[in-house]
Amino acid sequence: MTPKEIILNILNGKDAPRKGVLNPVSSTTVEQMKITNSYFPEAHYDAKKMFELSRASYEVLNYDGIMPVFSVVIEAYAAGCSVNWGEPEMMPQILGKLWKGYSDIEIKKDFLSNHAVRAVLDCITMLKNKYPDVTVIGKVFGPWTLSYDFFGVEDFLIKTIEEPEEVKDILNKLSEITVKFADAQIKAGADVITVADHATRDLCSPISYRDFLIPIHSMLASQIKAPIMLHICGDTLDRIEYISRTGMASFHFESKVDACRAVEIADKRIKLIGNINNTSTLLFRKPHDVKKEVDYAMNCGVDIIGPECAVPLITPLENLKEISRAVKERTISNV
Ligand SMILES: [Zn+2]
Repeated sequence: MTPKEIILNILNGKDAPRKGVLNPVSSTTVEQMKITNSYFPEAHYDAKKMFELSRASYEVLNYDGIMPVFSVVIEAYAAGCSVNWGEPEMMPQILGKLWKGYSDIEIKKDFLSNHAVRAVLDCITMLKNKYPDVTVIGKVFGPWTLSYDFFGVEDFLIKTIEEPEEVKDILNKLSEITVKFADAQIKAGADVITVADHATRDLCSPISYRDFLIPIHSMLASQIKAPIMLHICGDTLDRIEYISRTGMASFHFESKVDACRAVEIADKRIKLIGNINNTSTLLFRKPHDVKKEVDYAMNCGVDIIGPECAVPLITPLENLKEISRAVKERTISNV
């Protein structure tokens, strides 16, 4: 079975000969930039550089999927936010907010012609042509994250308390960006779409998730015509139950949530991806420590193993490679 068949079978609830291994968000590092001679910031908006750097996920790390959208700024940039594109050891940042309220929202008709958006789409097509047997993963941001980008985190969170009806309108409206960009990526060749929506515990209560985001995430699950990998950072234990009922194919979760607890709560309603710790294990510890976490996640029943979030840019290559080595040494016969 090819890596792509393994991942798609897992996401569709069919048999696979082993667990999957990939990262739905960025796996790139400065070491991979050197190996591929493709560096930040160009690899965020130059299709060829993005292609060269992203394919290291398969060629170097031996993962089952390639996710080329390293940054978190493409949608905001295309909508008009100013962006600092960063440098090899620094991810890009959005500089300042664009809008104050619902009535300011203006989604540009030519959003998909923005040069950074085009670079993502062209890169996906290049990956699809070069690697027909590998899972090509697109990435878009959900409307909760886009609201942080466009309104500022603090102002948006105040709105969720003071103007809940306006927030619902905002989320509905911004979902158009999410769906439009996801559709374009699927047309360009993406097999699967990561939807990153930072409804993390410290910024979104379980009640907010229930009231604001279950309807939105369920709508995204039905409108985006490819299996979705939902990514939410941080401690999400209190909302996995809700997430598992949105109809999304899978949830990419962090090591702040115990793998066995997550599997128990998801109760087979949604596939689970992750949850190898980035900031201590992958960044500072040794391959045998990584293997222990991989084995633990597999034993708990996590379906696809990978880093918990975008990896720190100076993560050692050996630790990232150990994830695929440890996953692939175990076939289904000895799981
Ligand atoms: Zn994250």
